[in-house]
Amino acid sequence: MEPGLRPSSAFAACCAFLVLALFMSAARAEDIVVSAKIGGDSQRTRFVAFVSKAVEFRVFSMADPYRIVIDMPETDIQVPGGKGRGLILSSRSGLLAPGKSRIVIDLAAPALIEKAELLPPENDLPARLVIDLARTTHKTFLASVKAPPPAPKPEDEPQSAAAKPDAGDRRPLIVIDPGHGGIDAGAVGRVTNALEKDITFDFGKKLAAKLEATARYRILMTRTSDVFVSLDDRSAISVKAKADLLISIHADALDPKRLGVKALKEVRGGTIYTLSEEASDDQANVIAQNENKVDVQAGVASEQTAPVVSEEIASILNDLENRIKKNRSTAIAHYLIDHMKGKMKFNIRPQRSANFRVLKAHGVPAILIELGYLSNEDDEKLLISEEWRTTISSVLGEAISAFMSERQAHIPL
Ligand SMILES: [Zn+2]
Repeated sequence: MEPGLRPSSAFAACCAFLVLALFMSAARAEDIVVSAKIGGDSQRTRFVAFVSKAVEFRVFSMADPYRIVIDMPETDIQVPGGKGRGLILSSRSGLLAPGKSRIVIDLAAPALIEKAELLPPENDLPARLVIDLARTTHKTFLASVKAPPPAPKPEDEPQSAAAKPDAGDRRPLIVIDPGHGGIDAGAVGRVTNALEKDITFDFGKKLAAKLEATARYRILMTRTSDVFVSLDDRSAISVKAKADLLISIHADALDPKRLGVKALKEVRGGTIYTLSEEASDDQANVIAQNENKVDVQAGVASEQTAPVVSEEIASILNDLENRIKKNRSTAIAHYLIDHMKGKMKFNIRPQRSANFRVLKAHGVPAILIELGYLSNEDDEKLLISEEWRTTISSVLGEAISAFMSERQAHIPL
């Protein structure tokens, strides 16, 4: 046992702590969490976060699924989504909102927080946040859960600095939505562990720069840093700004357990999705379900409310305004694929539809582009290449610009 950990007697037998490396980079925020460890078994588990500075933590439970959430001031930390131990299934961390970081611990079974305390530095050990968990029943766990805190508001000025929309500016407004961010890393590259949130952010910035350079559009980004923004907020940003187009950018991964490793080699290339009540195919449905779960995984929504219910989608698509949205979204998707296919590798079935929550922005034509699959090695090589991202964002920008110009020439937007 490491000196100074002062375990309760229940933990005396627990000696082999599993190290969960928390990767620190040169922090823009003050470094607070420096590493974390998990020890224990399926009845009692201890989570220890070593911290460089005593700060205020807030620890609480959430249900559906069982989770423990630790909120703290902004901290530059990344917990890899590795396996946990005992009552802890896995954990992850990241920026939840400007000034606020979060660690989410997924539980393997319902557990009560027996202790959550910050121990001062002693001997050679830094200060530690110690959380002791004890197995409990589903009923007791639910009784311990208080109302979850509201989702953080999106950034105050979620727009690119280069083109702030203003009321007198009549140029078409394009919202660029880099998928995931902050505590929600998205998919992870099979070979390089590249994070989807970094790829989408870089691609989004490049696309914004390309479109801004034409001076023909106003550009709004749903996030301008590595921060979490809920799916509903991304959609709301587009509605509030009366956007002419929402482009959500992703690079997801297929699950080898579901499709087999062979399929991962075969399934590759870009896909453009539009919103529909019923998915165009099984794969589109799975991708949409995974995307719609991200708010729950970040600890800002419950599983019961996060997935889009089909009646909601039906009502969204049935009024006149949204029939126009649907037609225009499909036309854009078709046009982009047609104009990009000579320059970008597309999936064998490049145009699909499913009930993506982020695309439901009322009245706003919306598409979600999967740039490729992080589960495919060849796609991963492209996605992590800055040169590829520069080329393809430029090709996409040109195709969007061509579509908007043709539309403006024939049909008022
Ligand atoms: Zn994604």
